[in-house]
Amino acid sequence: MTSTVLEFNSEIAGLFGKEVMERSGQNLYACYQCKRCASGCPAGEDAEYVTPDRLIRNIIMGDREKALNNLLVWKCVSCYTCGTRCPNNIHSSRITETLKKMSKESHLKPLRPKVFFFHDTFIKNSLRWGRVNELEFMGLFEIMNTLNVLKKRVVKPIIDEIINQAKFGLSMVKKKRLHPGFQASKGRHEIRRLYKKENKKWK
Ligand code: SF4
Ligand code: SF4
Repeated sequence: MTSTVLEFNSEIAGLFGKEVMERSGQNLYACYQCKRCASGCPAGEDAEYVTPDRLIRNIIMGDREKALNNLLVWKCVSCYTCGTRCPNNIHSSRITETLKKMSKESHLKPLRPKVFFFHDTFIKNSLRWGRVNELEFMGLFEIMNTLNVLKKRVVKPIIDEIINQAKFGLSMVKKKRLHPGFQASKGRHEIRRLYKKENKKWK
């Protein structure tokens, strides 16, 4: 019986780990795999048991493929439970955000397109206005989502989504939680400049 042996290339692993650490601002080498983060992660079970500790292990081992292609990256809800439990103050939500970005830059097919569209529209909307304008953000998100579903030549999920979103939008308007106007932040040019500068570093 043959067993698969993990090939470890310290140079590749080091470069990948360094990039994730610098971009996320998290010291992954401080992780000693105690799994306190995993025991509280609400997304772990849904992400086929890819928990924050496992994700960190993949990064440290230089397994770029697994680190960029796993459900936790797309299912993490940024609840910060892992960060508050971690004895080494590692916030895995910042790691999943970073990997989401790196996966997009590598043109990988997202495992959860809806999350990808949400993320992409949120960033673009924030960069345009310096803050999120809900109506434009949700409108563009729904258009991208609908176009993607249309590719599968099915209509029912689109009708269901429109009905659900209309109900949801209405309840938000009633509670004054949906703002139809456009507001622009004074510092939006500075936000754009900083975002571009940071992106340039990794190209
Ligand atoms: S709680 Fe912190 S140190 Fe423990 S496994 Fe998770 S990330 Fe690593
Ligand atoms: S922030 Fe993400 S990775 Fe951390 S516990 Fe919450 S869902 Fe899990």
